Amino acid sequence: MRTPSEQIEQDPRKKTLVILGTGWGSVSLLKKIDTENYNVIVVSPRNYFLFTPLLPSCTTGTIEHRSIMEPIRNILRHKGAQVKYYEAECTKIDYARKVVVINDESEIKGATSATEVPFDMLVVGVGAENATFGIPGVREHGLFLKEVGDAQAIRKRIMDCVETASFKDQSDEERKRLLHMVVVGGGPTGVEFAGELQDFFAQDLKTWIPDIADHFHVTLVEALPNVLPMFSKQLIDYTESTFKEESITIQTKTMVKNVTDKYIEAESTGPDGKKKLEQIPYGLLVWATGNALRPVVKDLMSQIPAQKDSRRGLAVNEYLVVKGCENVWAIGDCAIANYAPTAQVASQEGAFLARLFNSLAKTQEINEKLAELSETQAVAKPEERTEIFNEIKDLQKRLRRVKQIGPFEYSHQGSLAYIGSEKAVADVSWLRGNFASGGTWTYLFWKSAYLSMCFSTRNRILVCVDWIKSSIFGRDVSR
Ligand code: NAD
Repeated sequence: MRTPSEQIEQDPRKKTLVILGTGWGSVSLLKKIDTENYNVIVVSPRNYFLFTPLLPSCTTGTIEHRSIMEPIRNILRHKGAQVKYYEAECTKIDYARKVVVINDESEIKGATSATEVPFDMLVVGVGAENATFGIPGVREHGLFLKEVGDAQAIRKRIMDCVETASFKDQSDEERKRLLHMVVVGGGPTGVEFAGELQDFFAQDLKTWIPDIADHFHVTLVEALPNVLPMFSKQLIDYTESTFKEESITIQTKTMVKNVTDKYIEAESTGPDGKKKLEQIPYGLLVWATGNALRPVVKDLMSQIPAQKDSRRGLAVNEYLVVKGCENVWAIGDCAIANYAPTAQVASQEGAFLARLFNSLAKTQEINEKLAELSETQAVAKPEERTEIFNEIKDLQKRLRRVKQIGPFEYSHQGSLAYIGSEKAVADVSWLRGNFASGGTWTYLFWKSAYLSMCFSTRNRILVCVDWIKSSIFGRDVSR
């Protein structure tokens, strides 16, 4: 490992590869790419990688957020050649001019806060933003669960609701409203958060603040007939019955239409098919209804005629090249793959691009050497020719050995979700079979799987310490 000052300067003869984002896709690419071959520039407003599967645990303090963050500078330190990192948001990709416009959004402004970065090759791994479907009031009153700041805001709101509900002379009606925790969206994010929140109440809040015990209630609202649609029927049933035991209410076939500061308006469909509008008062509203396109991605799509019919993200070919573009690739949640937009997919796509770029660079290097040798051979003295001929043969052999990379193929390892009260569900693909399991053993499997997937040993140790800490001392109930 070299320190940043010992790293090699960027080389003007090499191609400039700009990578947008520091999420699952981009970091997996960065980890595996041989940065000696390119001038690599990383642009992202977030100067760390976030291990998102454990983010719901940060909302209740089971895990401290720093335990699941890995500084991007630390990741880049392990690369051989110098990689530049700019903490900035890419606000425009100008495909025709081959530049990205970047803005430093930090509060401390330097002399330059907006500039352009030219690229020869571009990887778009900017992820997605929270989908609200234009439902009024969601952005103003709801909280999301995508970033560290979101988890901190949720935690603050939980404690605000709890403390305000226990305030002297608080009316019963208001107390009930404040302690009604509503989660909208029955995908894995909503389910995991609901489970964590109920754990926080049952294991800690109830003991420390007994006044709230009768009114604290978690409701999960889902528009479809069941939660966790990507899991098998058996695990959906298991999750629903576990939630029932934990006293979490699941309101399926209920579509939220409007949000005000104190209640949500939702349309529910009864067993007879009749629709009914209802107002649900809430203290905390967590909105987890999936992904939407970021403006920078929408803008790029508007520049490329081949992307005209694409709605959910950048359409890519089997090598993850953005359709209608040259030398632009897209990975992760901003690209449309034939799979759900998960961390697993993004990470495999990033690793695939690293292999592809490494192989392209090697092929190009050998081809350049071959061209040079052929020229030398043409003017060489007869006694030198045999040696050059052998060198050419060697290089041709090496060229054949450079692995030809086939199209990207996703290998699904399975789906895991924590459902509260130390239980988890898992649909795992193993040895060409699919295994579904739910319960406490699955929870231990969930823990060990996520621990092994953590970015670094440092992260693993910190997460373990947090788990031990919260199981011995309970979670911290301060704000
Ligand atoms: P999701 O897209 O999986 O689920 C969102 C849910 O919200 C849907 O079931 C939808 O029917 C519901 N919904 C939408 N609008 C609604 C409305 N107005 N009222 C009520 N319900 C509404 O979203 P997610 O959970 O944020 O996950 C996003 C992606 O990340 C998914 O692909 C998911 O598989 C992946 N993910 C996976 C894991 C895991 O495997 N443990 C964890 C988190 C996220």
